[in-house]
Amino acid sequence: MNLLLLHADDLDAEHCALIHGRRLQHLHDIHRAEAGQTLRAGLLGGNMGSALIERLDSHEARLRLTLDRPPPAKLPLTLILALPRPKMLKRTLQTIAAMGVQTLVLVNSVRVEKSFWQTPWLTPDAIREQLLLGLEQACDTVLPNVILEKRFKPFVQDRLPALAADSLKLVAHPGDYPACPRALDHQPLTLAIGPEGGWIPYEVALLQEAGFTPVQLGPRILRVETAVPALIARLY
Ligand code: SAM
Repeated sequence: MNLLLLHADDLDAEHCALIHGRRLQHLHDIHRAEAGQTLRAGLLGGNMGSALIERLDSHEARLRLTLDRPPPAKLPLTLILALPRPKMLKRTLQTIAAMGVQTLVLVNSVRVEKSFWQTPWLTPDAIREQLLLGLEQACDTVLPNVILEKRFKPFVQDRLPALAADSLKLVAHPGDYPACPRALDHQPLTLAIGPEGGWIPYEVALLQEAGFTPVQLGPRILRVETAVPALIARLY
């Protein structure tokens, strides 16, 4: 936790924050925090700055806040990700929030196991919990938008054109394709990353019909959790 992320209901009338639970435990166990110490802090969806610990005991911490600067800009990136298996989903959600992805679409694909859609890690609260860990890690306060699309074809044909309008559209797919571009700067991008078994040819063809260009990262096939940061780092 490099940023103490505060929620509106942590704040009292004097613009101080009262902290309990996981974050209080983290202050004690990891920061070895003491009264008088200053920590990096941010308000979820708002500004970042510092928090002076006024009082700290085993039940509660009271922090005086100076939140005077905006969070880092998001990447102009919509990531379309075939739903990964639950364990990988948790880690990948943290990475996606930490790297500043603006919008994440978790989509079905032929090679996504049906049971993956039943996981408790896909409830809004569970997704939010992992994203918050990513924000705390990277020092950001703004959650990515998350959309779940359980049917690939209607999503690609009906909703993706508007979602990806005016952006560069790429689908990462190993094979004999052009190399993935580098350092797009601030160019808006919609990037599709496949499941563990890869996109099937029909899915790539549908994405191509929607204006997506297949690109590859070289002969090494990367796991989804590695492909996500490798592609984002290369593209931005
Ligand atoms: N056997 C699968 C295939 O050949 O497509 C491998 C899938 S890979 C584990 C999961 C996803 O990561 C792929 O669908 C693709 O989007 C991305 N990926 C991994 N390695 C890649 C590479 N070398 N080039 C392009 N995309 C890659």
